[in-house]
Amino acid sequence: MWLLVPVVLAGKLLLQAFRDHLEGLWKSIRWLSRWFRAVSIVEGSLRSRPQEEEEKREREEEKKVEEGVPAGPTIPISVNYHFTRQCNYKCGFCFHTAKTSFVLPLEEAKRGLRMLKEAGMEKINFSGGEPFLQNRGEFLGKMVKFCKEELRLSSVSVVSNGSLIRENWFKCYGEHLDILAISCDSFDEQVNVLIGRGQGKKSHVENLQKLRNWCQHYGVAFKINSVINRFNFEEDMNEQIKVLNPVRWKVFQCLIIDGENSGEDALREAEKFIISDEDFEQFLERHKEIACLVPESNQKMKDSYLILDEYMRFLNCRNGRKEPSRSILDVGVQEAIKFSGFDEKMFLKRGGKYVWSKAELNLQW
Ligand code: SF4
Repeated sequence: MWLLVPVVLAGKLLLQAFRDHLEGLWKSIRWLSRWFRAVSIVEGSLRSRPQEEEEKREREEEKKVEEGVPAGPTIPISVNYHFTRQCNYKCGFCFHTAKTSFVLPLEEAKRGLRMLKEAGMEKINFSGGEPFLQNRGEFLGKMVKFCKEELRLSSVSVVSNGSLIRENWFKCYGEHLDILAISCDSFDEQVNVLIGRGQGKKSHVENLQKLRNWCQHYGVAFKINSVINRFNFEEDMNEQIKVLNPVRWKVFQCLIIDGENSGEDALREAEKFIISDEDFEQFLERHKEIACLVPESNQKMKDSYLILDEYMRFLNCRNGRKEPSRSILDVGVQEAIKFSGFDEKMFLKRGGKYVWSKAELNLQW
């Protein structure tokens, strides 16, 4: 009997220790389950918060669109920088005339270009005036190289009348240029003279062929821009365009801009060059088989370009004249672009975003 007492006591002690152990284990499980529950709640709320915010933002954007407020900041995807107004031609309808002789110092121009890149610019087009006039094309060449090599823009293009381009320029800068657009309004030299694109004895048309060959040789996409006006709207350009075989033939309807080619303070009087919408349609109909033709009626051109002038000010054309914003160099891109009058929908509608880098164009001459 006395022998059983320690055995019973030891059993009791063992049972108590086992119960304590079980209780501790249960407490741990309860604590762990609470911890898991808390973590999953926090996690759930973290996951749903951005979703809620996203939905809220979408609702606000929809409301803004309904109220006619532009959604978000405008991104300057494609910019036209008219860095000079000086030109060696005197086209009667010119809509960017030599009202000043100002050109920014190269380093300031580069600073502005970098700001545009940081704001989302993918394509730059250098225009004028005549861009090859400043420092015999060196100024332009340095900007072209800077935009391609340092800013790594997907497209760098130039619009020129072509009269001042030398082969040496292609040797130095051709590799950095995606597209060269040459203005040509007629294949009849007499008509070019009437328009103001004549240059004494030099033939604008012959020069065009030479430039096209250089583009081929140096791997630059070749484009033609034509302004259809009273003097050329009846011309048939099919054959010549087929021979030149540009990647794009941009055909503009002659446009009146108050203060540039019309009105008291203008340097041109373009009224006599203006054609009706029907005349323009007739021209397009005559050339409908040219696949690379891109038409731009007055309607399409309206507000669909982001234009920077020689001071890097955006030019707002909404009221039929070019009204400048403040310079991006003074107030930044986002502040200046609010006054640009740029309509992103019109930009997309006119096909402003296209295959614009020579790498993607897969040039086959
Ligand atoms: S070539 Fe261009 S910039 Fe020069 S006058 Fe003619 S339209 Fe104007």
